[in-house]
Amino acid sequence: MTNNYLKRQKIISFVAIASTITACSISPSASPQLGLNEPISKSHTAQVQNPAKGQVNELPPSAKVENLTFTVPTKFQGKTVYKVQLSSNKKVIALGIDDGPWPKTTLEMLDILKQNDVKVTFFWVGQALQANPDLAKQVVAEGHAIGNHTWHHWYRRMDEATAKSEIDRTSDLIYKTTGVKTSLFRPPGGFLNNGLAAYAKSQKDAVIMWSLTSADTDPHAKPQAFVNNVLKGAKPGSIVLMHDGGGDRRRTVEALPQIISGLKQQGYRFVTIPELLQMAQ
Ligand SMILES: [Zn+2]
Repeated sequence: MTNNYLKRQKIISFVAIASTITACSISPSASPQLGLNEPISKSHTAQVQNPAKGQVNELPPSAKVENLTFTVPTKFQGKTVYKVQLSSNKKVIALGIDDGPWPKTTLEMLDILKQNDVKVTFFWVGQALQANPDLAKQVVAEGHAIGNHTWHHWYRRMDEATAKSEIDRTSDLIYKTTGVKTSLFRPPGGFLNNGLAAYAKSQKDAVIMWSLTSADTDPHAKPQAFVNNVLKGAKPGSIVLMHDGGGDRRRTVEALPQIISGLKQQGYRFVTIPELLQMAQ
């Protein structure tokens, strides 16, 4: 249901912005805000619900930026989440990939994810996003969910104004670059007491931690160790930590296909973190 909901929202937004673009002939990449306040009429919804009948207009090639919102259920707003308790212990799991977008590595991971039909959640650092906007657009176009991982990736204690700036500046750039609004926040290093999580909670974001780490930041470990860490620790509702940026992540790229195939062999299905939250008990 979540999946459908998100997809539907995505399509509706897409149609809304596409109609605006057609009307204005303005590239959304120059001005992604366009169409945001456009009322979504019932006819748009009806069109989306009957795509087989060919009622949805073809999108113009310039429609690269869409408006997509990753919200969290009320019970998780302003809360810290490590994992999710599933109503029927369904074997679902969510990969969270941090510190990108990053040249080469993110692209290689996107290819692996696409080949395996797996959707994940990327937590972006503002500075990295600023340097790699096209990669970011591709990540969103391929259907992955996005979270905020601050501008500088600082661990230190911050006053409220700095924490606000770290988070809001990143949100703004995520939106301007990809049209995405997200209520998912992941604190760098998992530090919950340096002012960042407090500000995120005040904005009703969910602070998304993890219950299982690949430990892929260990500079000495082999890719097989990352694979073993995940496959041995996986549980229904786990949120898995790994990285596509912030350093040389070739070993994580190497580990990813085995992580995916191993979890699939264990019977797991992959969901994004917003989807996982929607499935929570
Ligand atoms: Zn990080």
